[in-house]
Amino acid sequence: MHKKTHISIAKALFRKLGLPKEYEKIFVKAIVEPDNWRRRDPRRKHHYLQYNTVLEYIKQARRAYINGDTSTCLWCLGIALHFIQDAFIPSPRTKRLREIHERLERKMESYKSGTLYMLNDAVNEGFKVNISSPPKFIKRTLSDIQWIYDKQYLLETVVKTSALITAAVFDSKNPPIGLHEKYIMLKKSHNKRVLKASIISLISVVTGSALMMSFITLSVLFFIIFYMIVPSLAYGKIVASDKEFYEVEEEADWYGIK
Ligand SMILES: [Zn+2]
Repeated sequence: MHKKTHISIAKALFRKLGLPKEYEKIFVKAIVEPDNWRRRDPRRKHHYLQYNTVLEYIKQARRAYINGDTSTCLWCLGIALHFIQDAFIPSPRTKRLREIHERLERKMESYKSGTLYMLNDAVNEGFKVNISSPPKFIKRTLSDIQWIYDKQYLLETVVKTSALITAAVFDSKNPPIGLHEKYIMLKKSHNKRVLKASIISLISVVTGSALMMSFITLSVLFFIIFYMIVPSLAYGKIVASDKEFYEVEEEADWYGIK
């Protein structure tokens, strides 16, 4: 996406946030920064969403916000938004796609002043959405991103999605009622699962060692079974399957609960 379009969106979002003016340049610089990285390394793809990178930047932005570090928050958010915005635009990979890409870019460019209303509307709309579980909401939003070929819808969606993510990052620092207690409770039972899996693995390893010493010819097989398969199954079935805990942990982290 063109630099100017990224910047117009950043400025519209910044107006909505109502932060002291001196922070604006950090946000504007961040939202165009990934294109400098790409100039240095052309392999970086912007028109395919790098889900994990973007999610990590959003989480870092939130953590900085919780800690009262507005500069870092805006910097990380700006980077994440750049990637999100680019990911809506079809990659100029083939000749046909390149034509579409260029047409969309030109159209977005030509909007300029006329789109100011639209920009602010889309920002307001994004900020109005009520978000109940931010991490889950953000992940869903990121997974839903796909190329848009209609220019009007493209710009609106890009701005609205940017606003949703910004609103989520700057959402209340107070955790929902009961989250802290729920997290503590689930963490206790999760720790028990970890302990259980560790004991099973330990027993498995001890058994395996005994068998390996008794049946040296089969030691490779026993090693694989008792040192590798059993412990990883125990971990997978008992610890990694604790989905509810991981979800609540992520939400607790969003509110700075340790
Ligand atoms: Zn880019």
